[in-house]
Amino acid sequence: MKDLKEKFKGTIFGLAIGDALGAPYEQFSLEQFRSLADDILDSYSSSDLYGLQPGEYTDDTDMSLCTIEALVENSYLDIDAISDKFVSWFQTDPKDIGRTTSAALHEISKGTPSHEASEMVADEFSAGNGAAMRIAPIALFNYKNTPETLCQNIIDVSLITHHHKDAVGGALAIGLLIYFNLHDPDKRENFNKLISSSALIKDEDLIRRIKAVPGLSKEDLIPDGYIINTLNTVLFHFLKYDNTIEAIQSVIKLGGDTDTNASIIGSLMGSIYGMKNIPPYYTDNLQNNEKIRVLIDKLYEVAVNDKIFY
Ligand SMILES: [Mg+2]
Repeated sequence: MKDLKEKFKGTIFGLAIGDALGAPYEQFSLEQFRSLADDILDSYSSSDLYGLQPGEYTDDTDMSLCTIEALVENSYLDIDAISDKFVSWFQTDPKDIGRTTSAALHEISKGTPSHEASEMVADEFSAGNGAAMRIAPIALFNYKNTPETLCQNIIDVSLITHHHKDAVGGALAIGLLIYFNLHDPDKRENFNKLISSSALIKDEDLIRRIKAVPGLSKEDLIPDGYIINTLNTVLFHFLKYDNTIEAIQSVIKLGGDTDTNASIIGSLMGSIYGMKNIPPYYTDNLQNNEKIRVLIDKLYEVAVNDKIFY
């Protein structure tokens, strides 16, 4: 089970490292990257945009850690507990928060039930990557459950903030691929399983788009926060790269929604390769790395060893 534990670590650390490496460059253009040193992404940077220190992560990691905390405190999936964690975090006035997430958590904090809140605030702009970015812990938690249970959990957790079918579909695709990666070391085979998952994803149009990813070139990728574009970007890199840090760096260099796209590719790569190719610098210099390590240990115990924490 050593490999499995490494995959748990790789998924969550990959997510947080991608977030912390990418956050200083949010909305950068390709031209802005050309003016930077070639090795700029080898280490963490600060950011004037959000006042971030080197190694500081943002909402992608915050919300994933909120989810893990709720899962290990309850040892079962309690939507209200996860929603409460999100609201407590929202009330700290986070430096970075997505538009749809912010609107939904504002409604929930006024007393609206979570799934009603996300429906209330949904519009054509709510097909973002804000549910997919925080879904990795749900895939890990469901390691011993069936893909059907995993998918129902992903839908329930996504609907706390995101009601748009593409936002939920994107979270299903990311969560399922992480789940397949935990069970099987062959990433091509896992990608094939994903495109054969229409009984689970139940969206032929989304499956058709995912199927088209191997035929894309890097120039086709649009690195913004629209979930379909995020899926193209991260799945393209997942198939092409075998080194987690290099995949994260390549995604960030596309510009756009750098922190979220980098955090999702970090979690996908970590779920197949574990901590391999992640030099200690990236974990040692990550904000709250000890706290994250403890949460991963607890999540592993709950998901794999059925241990209950009080
Ligand atoms: Mg962020």
